[in-house]
Amino acid sequence: TSNRTRHYNVVSIPADGIGPEVVSAAIEVIQKLAQVSKSFTIEFEHILWGTAYYKEHGRYVDENVLEVLRRYDAILFGSVGAPDVPDHISLWGLLLAIRGPLQLYANVRPVRTFPGTVSRLRDTKSGAPEIDWLVVRENTEGEYSGHGGRSHRGQKWEVATEVAIFTYVGIERIMRFAFSAAQARPKKLLTVVTKSNSMRNGMVLWDEVALEVSRDFPDVKWDKMLVDAMTVRMVNFPGSLDTIVGTNLHMDILSDLAAALAGSLGIAPSSNLDPTGKNPSLFEPVHGSAFDITGKGVANPVATIWSAAEMLGWLGEAEAKDTLMKAIENVCTAGVLTADLGGTANTKEVTRAICEELEKLG
Ligand code: ATP
Ligand code: MG
Repeated sequence: TSNRTRHYNVVSIPADGIGPEVVSAAIEVIQKLAQVSKSFTIEFEHILWGTAYYKEHGRYVDENVLEVLRRYDAILFGSVGAPDVPDHISLWGLLLAIRGPLQLYANVRPVRTFPGTVSRLRDTKSGAPEIDWLVVRENTEGEYSGHGGRSHRGQKWEVATEVAIFTYVGIERIMRFAFSAAQARPKKLLTVVTKSNSMRNGMVLWDEVALEVSRDFPDVKWDKMLVDAMTVRMVNFPGSLDTIVGTNLHMDILSDLAAALAGSLGIAPSSNLDPTGKNPSLFEPVHGSAFDITGKGVANPVATIWSAAEMLGWLGEAEAKDTLMKAIENVCTAGVLTADLGGTANTKEVTRAICEELEKLG
């Protein structure tokens, strides 16, 4: 069977804070999964870019960062950021130095209420407590394009501009991705989030491109929401939503809201995809480096383990991904939960419980 076993080379960048703790938990689980499923093998190589590297070398990543990363099938990322480095330096130094140049333009965040965990919401319309959303965030332009500047620094009349860049190509490709993601889900329902009443250039272009792309997806029901009204709809009528797409800034905010509504940042996964497949995609938990709990061994590893499951699905191991998701669900249902979900288990106990569940399912 050895020639039928697929092999993957993955680079892990655990980086800062709880990153190393949750990434090593995810690797342990993935190796257990490879062992029990026997359908693939996987090798992880670690690269120690992050704040410690920055303090030694004056930069967050190696000079040939893209060349290095392109040798791998995928990237498993922890989290970047440290209390003594300004966030905009660490973020641009590491994560944004990868996302932009590799054109990982689709940031995809599945959001679900998990069995055994408590959602903060009850749908007032349908009565259904379930949240099951796919949040799609444009990941390369918009409000985070880095264009702008400052003049008269330090003066009372200082001026700063932060220019949001929207391109037809950038909007079209994320819109097409979102429509086809919506089409692949049972409800075939897409909500396009903009702010086209008060932002009359880029956001109006978003609306126009949405209409244009929608014509290629006649079986997808879609609607438009202003981002402010969208926050209300997410809280009051969660069951009326399925796939959601919006700009870099809007979805940065709404995806955190979504994760909190569904339960905890500690379970929220994300994929940074290059849908063209030319570059390796990057998978990471939504949460940050969480220095308040770093080194205590209590971080919830589920967000990173779920991100690793998304990675396997992206690499083509759909069956292995489903097995892993089932294992996570069973462990949650059994009440093996970390403190952020109201439980008392630590990182190692949750990780071990998921591995044991994989042995049973495998
Ligand atoms: P960053 O600036 O890197 O985004 P942050 O301090 O803004 O970090 P997060 O690290 O995202 O915020 O987390 C916010 C809080 O949520 C943390 O202080 C931590 O208590 C909690 N938290 C985040 N991730 C986890 C996790 N995996 N398990 C348990 N608690 C978590
Ligand atoms: Mg944060």
